[in-house]
Amino acid sequence: MAGSFGFRFDNSYTRLPEVLYSRSQPQPAPAPQMMLFNQALADSLGLDSDALAGADGAAFFSGNALPPGSDPIAQAYAGHQFGHLAMLGDGRAILLGEQQTPDQRRIDIQLKGAGRTRFSRGGDGRAAVGPMLREYLISEAMHALHIPTTRSLAVVATGEPVYREDALPGAVLTRTAASHLRVGTFQYAAGQQDPALLTTLVDYTLERHYPHLLEADNRPLALLDAVMEKQIDLVVQWMRVGFIHGVMNTDNVTLSGETIDYGPCAFMDHYDQDTVFSSIDHQGRYAFSNQPMITQWNLGRFAETLLVGIDDNTDRAIEIATDRIKGFSERYSEKWLAMMRSKLGLFGAEKDDTALISELLAWMKQQRADHTNTFRDLIRETRPPGDLYSDDAFIDWHQRWQARLARNPKPLASSLCLMRHHNPAVIPRNHQVERALQAASDHQDLAPARALLDALRDPYQDRDGQDPYRQPPAPGEQVCQTFCG
Ligand code: AMP
Ligand code: MG
Ligand code: MG
Repeated sequence: MAGSFGFRFDNSYTRLPEVLYSRSQPQPAPAPQMMLFNQALADSLGLDSDALAGADGAAFFSGNALPPGSDPIAQAYAGHQFGHLAMLGDGRAILLGEQQTPDQRRIDIQLKGAGRTRFSRGGDGRAAVGPMLREYLISEAMHALHIPTTRSLAVVATGEPVYREDALPGAVLTRTAASHLRVGTFQYAAGQQDPALLTTLVDYTLERHYPHLLEADNRPLALLDAVMEKQIDLVVQWMRVGFIHGVMNTDNVTLSGETIDYGPCAFMDHYDQDTVFSSIDHQGRYAFSNQPMITQWNLGRFAETLLVGIDDNTDRAIEIATDRIKGFSERYSEKWLAMMRSKLGLFGAEKDDTALISELLAWMKQQRADHTNTFRDLIRETRPPGDLYSDDAFIDWHQRWQARLARNPKPLASSLCLMRHHNPAVIPRNHQVERALQAASDHQDLAPARALLDALRDPYQDRDGQDPYRQPPAPGEQVCQTFCG
């Protein structure tokens, strides 16, 4: 391994038509310093994690040195941003290449914040320490929660300021992903008015993510179905843990079904289906409970790009695709209900389950009950202690839930076990995340970020109720807004 650091790169994206990307060199950083390095992820990629933990890693993961075999590019894509179509592309991200892992996976390794590209428009191509650490913390938390996500291999401080409203310390994040193919990639390709380009992209996407579908009679349609299923599963998982993505633009919807782009995202503390954190989401387009509907809308935009391939007859293609997109609602409802049953330890199906679930959520909203802790508190044989749970409405609900549990075809112990696996004890709470970012950004103190990462590593593990990482924010600690970085 020595000498190559375990890098085994291929660059299959560069073999696609050149209109899909632009060769792009990272800009060197004056004084790269490793801030966080994900040893476990490096190991799983087949990288030499010991050799990369220090200065060599800082050089590679700032863009100062290129891994052997890298052919760096910025990818072209378009996207509907808050409903409006724009030409985008990697304005501050550079794909170094695809690591071929010991377990035969092909994983994109990308630098975020390594300088300008052909797609930077007015931007500086750079990123600040705070938002890059935020992506690292939250993406790794999502992974530990068993939610499909891009991951974070490293954050390297560049030693150079970036200018936002103030001068901030700069950083580069190394992101890994099953691929960076997005709905926006197809929107960009469709805009080229070249059906052959779309066919090539469909085949590439299938080969990379759904190879069994290469046999399908109608490949574009098979791809639409597969991506829809993955995206339904994904948004159901977000709803399970109270995750609000914040920028569900079509350029931030992957075809692999991984969560991507941790900008103004946040987890809700007290339950309210209308929660919005993002400072730029004035209309609440991407509010918690809108996420499924927006996913469907985004899939509609994906379907539009595939029409020419679905059927030669446009009317017929529209009819087929519309039918598929309409099917979203039923599929989503089924999967959401199954997920909520698991959160409440319910086996089998009863027709009143939906009402039982909605009543709990309505009560939680009214009480401003903590989303994470309420479900976790329910994992016990009797009614949870405390004032919150002594209210008449809750007592009534709890009795009905207990009666439903008693009709379960499985013993109570199985329900409690199911609940433990679907209700995390720890999530990355905004006030903890902000505290960790501030310490790192203002005082180069990474101890709070490391402690938080450690707390998030095993989120379903039982933890003391007094554990600071389980506490909702005190009134003065609440974070109401998050910002893109
Ligand atoms: P996002 O909202 O993070 O999905 O980003 C939308 C678009 O803005 C993408 O094309 C990004 O590459 C681009 N972008 C974001 N920040 C910068 C920056 N600092 N410099 C250049 N491009 C950027
Ligand atoms: Mg994005
Ligand atoms: Mg972003």
